[in-house]
Amino acid sequence: MSTFIQQAKEHLQNSGGRMTSQRRLILQTIESFTGHPTAEEIYNRARQMDANLNLSTVYRTLRWMEENEMINSRQFKDDRRQARFDPTSRADHHHFQCEVCGKIIEFEAEQAEQIKQQFENAYEGRVNSISVFLYGICPDCES
Ligand SMILES: [Zn+2]
Ligand SMILES: [Zn+2]
Repeated sequence: MSTFIQQAKEHLQNSGGRMTSQRRLILQTIESFTGHPTAEEIYNRARQMDANLNLSTVYRTLRWMEENEMINSRQFKDDRRQARFDPTSRADHHHFQCEVCGKIIEFEAEQAEQIKQQFENAYEGRVNSISVFLYGICPDCES
């Protein structure tokens, strides 16, 4: 069984909800992406399997997954308020987006931990998450 469906079942059991076939389809569709799909990309792919699926059902399921910390939404500069969804099961990572082709490259940065410490020392707040976005030109577009 896929990780998302396993996680979803646990959350649903705790909240008295149930697994619907559309919810299952949306979970499987998100898992079939390797990148960072938007809600519409998820919808377009899932709709090929179930023509009755609504975009609002996709949004509702995504919001539910985010509340249960199964995915993160990421807001890239050029996406005009369309969030991209990122499975949180992947290790803590940051994002570079190519301004020419839109490709997203994930990277890790230990320095992010230092920024977090600096902030907490300077402002006495507490940082729960940190996300670095870099924009530029990817190796393919550079050559
Ligand atoms: Zn990512
Ligand atoms: Zn590029």
